Amino acid sequence: MSAVLGKNTRPEMVVRKAAHGLGLRFRLHDRNLPGRPDLVLPKWKTVIFVNGCFWHGHEGCRRNATPKSNAAFWAQKVAANVRRDEANGRRLGDLGWRVVTLWECQVRSIDAAASILKREFPKS
Ligand SMILES: [Zn+2]
Repeated sequence: MSAVLGKNTRPEMVVRKAAHGLGLRFRLHDRNLPGRPDLVLPKWKTVIFVNGCFWHGHEGCRRNATPKSNAAFWAQKVAANVRRDEANGRRLGDLGWRVVTLWECQVRSIDAAASILKREFPKS
């Protein structure tokens, strides 16, 4: 659901740069796939979502604090996003895709993103 913040949000750009630096080949925002994954790596049959911690309800993350005003409204909105993410994840799994979720708080630098990607996509 990166649509809320616009497509080219910063954490996503960091992940793209890191992936590019590792020589990973990817497509962007495949609208034919559930949830329009941010990056699609056909060779690895893997999709990557770069999720904002607040909007996607990153559990236990301090960036995921519900605002004090309109708390119920925001909590409901985020819960709906989480449900949609889960449903999309299941549909992608049914289609044979592996889903990798990177959180905004994990990709604050290209190096940080690259080390996660190296783990997820070994010898790339
Ligand atoms: Zn987080």
